[in-house]
Order: sequence, then structure tokens, then C-alpha cells
Amino acid sequence: MSAPGEESFIIAPPERVAIPVTGSEQLFPVRRIFCVGRNYAEHAREMGADPQREPPFFFTKPSDAIVVAGNDVPYPRATANLHHEVELVIAIGKRGGDIAKDQALNYVFGYAVGNDLTRRDLQSEAKRSGRPWDTAKGFDHSAPVSQITPSAQCGHINEGQITLHVNGDERQRGDLQDMIWSTAEIISALSKLFILQPGDLIFSGTPAGVGPLQPGDEVDASIEGLTPLAHKVLPAN
Ligand code: MN
Repeated sequence: MSAPGEESFIIAPPERVAIPVTGSEQLFPVRRIFCVGRNYAEHAREMGADPQREPPFFFTKPSDAIVVAGNDVPYPRATANLHHEVELVIAIGKRGGDIAKDQALNYVFGYAVGNDLTRRDLQSEAKRSGRPWDTAKGFDHSAPVSQITPSAQCGHINEGQITLHVNGDERQRGDLQDMIWSTAEIISALSKLFILQPGDLIFSGTPAGVGPLQPGDEVDASIEGLTPLAHKVLPAN
């Protein structure tokens, strides 16, 4: 038996996943990662879907898929078609369920730039066979994220350029105001399915231009007003 507060574990507990905060020495601890599918009309079209304004749908990644800014991404196993998807990441700072749209932004701690890395070949197969997306979306190192900028500094950004470059060439460009579902609408919809908790992250969907990455590529992802994200794709190990 251990004294209270001195629990011992049968195996080593996982390390706390945490993201640096712009302008602070303190870290943002990551709890869960939710992601929105098809939230820009042009991207929905390039994926062969009809961009109707149907309710947003969600999938998840494990929190330890996070790649903290300054680290690189090993080319994942089990794919020959790794795709980039630059996205606005919403960092939740307050607990809440059934959140009204006009209250939703009060639950935001801040914003970051993320890359929703996708094993597109596995996703295409999952879509074809009506199976879950977990292996296509939730693999190790599948969620590079920039530093989080507190909304107290950057405000609640709902417009501005979102871009991704590979080896200096522009691949994705969009504007946050083209999101089919706004940040407030996403938070409200997600909070009807889950009680949102401090530490939750929401990847809010990608603009058109997704495409493959190769080992050796250098990725630069930016959103106006936020700390940009840069990472390399390392050779498979
Ligand atoms: Mn995505």
C-alpha cells in the first residue's frame, strides 16, 4: 500500500502531453483531440463529397498523437499516401455541455495551427468499406500542433488566411471565413455529444489543396495572427 498522494503504478504511467503557450512559461495540458470533417466547401468537393450544410461530423485522435512544435514527424508505417491538412485548432479552457452558440467562445482558451496528417490510402479504403477512420487518422505523430496563442492575446479569430507550403511551394490556401461551420457552431455541436473539458483540442477542418508528403519534405503551416507551425517529414523508421 502507498500513502495517499503517493500511488505507485504497475507500469510507468504515460507522460503528460502538453503544448507550449505563446508568451508564457506555462504549458497547455492536452486531454482529448476532436476533429471536424469536411468544413470547407472546396475541400469537400476535392474529396468527392457534396458540400451541403449538413450537421458537422467528428472523429478523434489520441492525445499522444500530438507532435509538439519544434519536433519532426517520422513518415508513418502502413501507408504509401500520407497527406497534409492544415487546420485551425481550437483549445478548450473550460468545462461545458450543451453550450449555446452565443456562449461558445467563452469556452475557448486559445488557438493554434495544426496539421491533421492522414493516411489517405487507409481512409479511402475505410470509406469504401464503411469502416471507422481510426487507422487513417489516429496514428502515432499524426497531430503536429504549433504553440497555442491565448484568445486574450489574439481575440477570437474568424477570418484570415490559412496556408500550407511544402518545401516552399504553396499547396493549400483558404480563409477562415470560408469554414462551413464557425468555431462557435463547432463547439456548440460537439458539446451536445461530449461534455467538453479543459485541455480538449478541436481540429476544425482543412481548406482545399490537400496532397501527399514524402520523407525529407519541409512543411510550413500558417494562420494569420497565430504562431506558425513548421516540421519536417523524416525517413520512415
Ligand atoms: Mn482534417
